[in-house]
Amino acid sequence: MDIIRLKNVKKQYKNGTTALYDINLSIAKGSFVFIIGGSGSGKSTLMKLLYREEKPTHGQIIVGGINVAKLRNSKVYKLRRNLGIVFQDYKLLPKRTVYENVAFAMEVIGATKQETRVKVLKALEIVGLKNKIHSYPDQLSGGEQQRVAIARAIVNNPKMLLCDEPTGNLDPEMSMEIMRVIEKINDEWGTTVLVVTHDERIVNALKKQVITIKDGRIVNNKEKGTYDYENA
Ligand code: ADP
Repeated sequence: MDIIRLKNVKKQYKNGTTALYDINLSIAKGSFVFIIGGSGSGKSTLMKLLYREEKPTHGQIIVGGINVAKLRNSKVYKLRRNLGIVFQDYKLLPKRTVYENVAFAMEVIGATKQETRVKVLKALEIVGLKNKIHSYPDQLSGGEQQRVAIARAIVNNPKMLLCDEPTGNLDPEMSMEIMRVIEKINDEWGTTVLVVTHDERIVNALKKQVITIKDGRIVNNKEKGTYDYENA
């Protein structure tokens, strides 16, 4: 079953720049997909269309059964509760502990204290940070802070995890650790994962599906792929 489907999707920004041309793409439920490509090729735009930060100029986008292109602003929350989103910068609340940072996402949806506790501990366990629940962000390494951000993204058990350059600020060793955490979430929870990255080492080590975007077009889409040095 496809959890994401794009049909003839075009995105032209208001200033006239076309970021994506005629994108057709299906992603099966439970997949782990790397999206690679040079700077300005359209990777972030593709992600933004999926979480409805941007709307397509043309075409159809289905994400978790929701017709995203047609979705009203007042219904975007229905899409977002199916999604966890992770960025290059961790966007943690500096005056909250690790526990509170992750719990915050649960408070927003009105969960009980007991339910919050169970889910926050489960999320911190899978990212390997259960021993740091009382620490503050500035007491953690970059890799640990990103693991908190990942725990926060998955605490409500979303169907999909979208990561835009999650290791962009990390050294090679921490980058690999983060990717192993994301791989574990995909393996153990069955969460569909999309990762935008420039990191060839990671892509070559994990041997997942690799989609290459060049100048706004998908030029390569391989199962168990490696880094596409020609196009990315
Ligand atoms: P990538 O993530 O691969 O670096 P982007 O999706 O950010 O690429 O950008 C693709 C193209 O769209 C680039 O030419 C970029 O300058 C342009 N672009 C991105 N965001 C905007 C925007 N908000 N307005 C106008 N052009 C944009």
